[in-house]
Amino acid sequence: MDLAERLLEEVAARRDEVAALTRDLIRIPTLNPPGRYYREICEFLSDRLSPRGFACELLRAEGALGDSDRYPRWNLVARREGDEAGPCVHFNSHIDVVEVGQGWTVDPFEGLIRDGRVYGRGACDMKGGLAASVVAAEVFVDLVPGFAGAIEISGTADEETGGYGGVAFLAEKGYFAPERVQHVIIPEPLNKDRICLGHRGVWWAEVETHGRIGHGSMPFLGDSAIRHMGAVLTEMEERFYPALAEKRTDMPVVPEGAKQSTLNINSIHGGQDELPADFTGFPAPVVADSCRMIIDRRFLIEENLAEVKAEFTHMLEGVKARRPGFSYDINDMHEVIPTMTDRDAPVVTAVSRAIGTVLDKDPVYVVSPGTYDQKHIDRIGRMKNCIAYGPGILDLAHQPDEWVGIDDMVQSAQVMALALLDLLSTEKNVATGRSPK
Ligand SMILES: [Zn+2]
Repeated sequence: MDLAERLLEEVAARRDEVAALTRDLIRIPTLNPPGRYYREICEFLSDRLSPRGFACELLRAEGALGDSDRYPRWNLVARREGDEAGPCVHFNSHIDVVEVGQGWTVDPFEGLIRDGRVYGRGACDMKGGLAASVVAAEVFVDLVPGFAGAIEISGTADEETGGYGGVAFLAEKGYFAPERVQHVIIPEPLNKDRICLGHRGVWWAEVETHGRIGHGSMPFLGDSAIRHMGAVLTEMEERFYPALAEKRTDMPVVPEGAKQSTLNINSIHGGQDELPADFTGFPAPVVADSCRMIIDRRFLIEENLAEVKAEFTHMLEGVKARRPGFSYDINDMHEVIPTMTDRDAPVVTAVSRAIGTVLDKDPVYVVSPGTYDQKHIDRIGRMKNCIAYGPGILDLAHQPDEWVGIDDMVQSAQVMALALLDLLSTEKNVATGRSPK
C-alpha cells in the first residue's frame, strides 16, 4: 500500500473521532454576538494539538471591533514544523456560531450524533470543517512525521460579524504574510466536492433625502423627504435594477441568481421615529424632513468599486435634475473588494487532485455570493493562494437543526490529508513514511 492509500485508510479509521471532536466543539457554545467562550474553545484546541507537537499561541485581538473585557476576542494559531524546510499549509476555521433562533427539535449545544450526522449550532458552519482539518492534520503528522514545511491550524473569532477581531487581526499582525504562509484552506461548508475560489465585492452605503417639516394637514407647506425617496425607488425599479441585471460575471458564482450585480435595500426609514411599544397615543401629523435608506450592493470582479459608486451617484443626480427641491447625501459605510484565486494556483490544483482521488470526480469550482474571511487574507495578508474547501451543505448554515454528515467530514478530511501530502512531501519522506501504530 502506498502512503496516499495509508493516509486514506487511517483517516477512515478515525471516523468516530471526527464525529466526537465535532460534538465536543459544538458543546462549547461560542455564540456571536456577543462572542462567548472564545477563550475556552481556543484552550480546548490548544490542549488537543499541543501534545501532538503543535506550538500553540492564544492571541487576543485587544481593541479590535467587538473586543471587550467582558467578551474578549481570543484566537488560536497552532503550528507544527516538519523536519525539513518547505511551504506552510494553513487551515483557518472560525470558531464563532450565530444565534440559535426558533424551530429546533434537538438541543443545539448537545452535539447529538444520530443516523450518521452530528447536530447542533455550528455543526455545518463550521465546527465540522474545523474537526475534519484537525483530524486530517493529525493523521498526516502521524504517518509522515518527516514532512517538509509546516502545518498551521487557526481558530478565529467573529467571522459571522466581519472577522475584525479574528482573521483581520491576525492578518494585520503578519500571520498571513507570504513569507510565513504559502497555502490557505478555509474549511467553510461548501461541500466536499466543491472548491470555492473567492467571493463578490460589497459596498454598503446610506442615502438620505432631505425635506422640510410642516403640518400634515397642509403638506404643500412642507416638502416630503419620503416622496423624494419614492422618486429614487421608482428610478431604481424602472432603470437601475434592469441595468444591474445586464451585468453578468464570468466568476462561477452560485447560486445562479448571484451571477449578476445585485442591490438589496437593507432598510428604509422616513419621518418620525417609531413610537415606543408602551406608548398608547397617536403619532403627530408632520411632513417628513428626512428619509434614510441603507443599500447593500454586491459587485463583480469585472466591476471596480469607484465605478460602482459613480453609477449610483449618477442615478441620484438624474433624479435631482428632473425633480424640484430634491437633495440628498450619500455616506459610505463598508466595502469589500471581490477576490478570486486562479484555478491553476497550487492550493487549488492540490485539492482538485485530492478530490479526484477520494471522490473519483472533478471538483466543481464556485464563487460565493457573500464574503467570508478570505477578504482579509487577500487584502491585508496579500495572500492569493487561498480557497474555501470543507464538508457540509451551505444551505443548512444558520438554520434550525443544523447538521453535518459524518461521511462527508471523513471524505473532506481525506481530501485535506492528500492535499497535505501533495504540498508538503519530499521524495524521501514518501519513501519512509511510517505505518500507523
Ligand atoms: Zn462560516
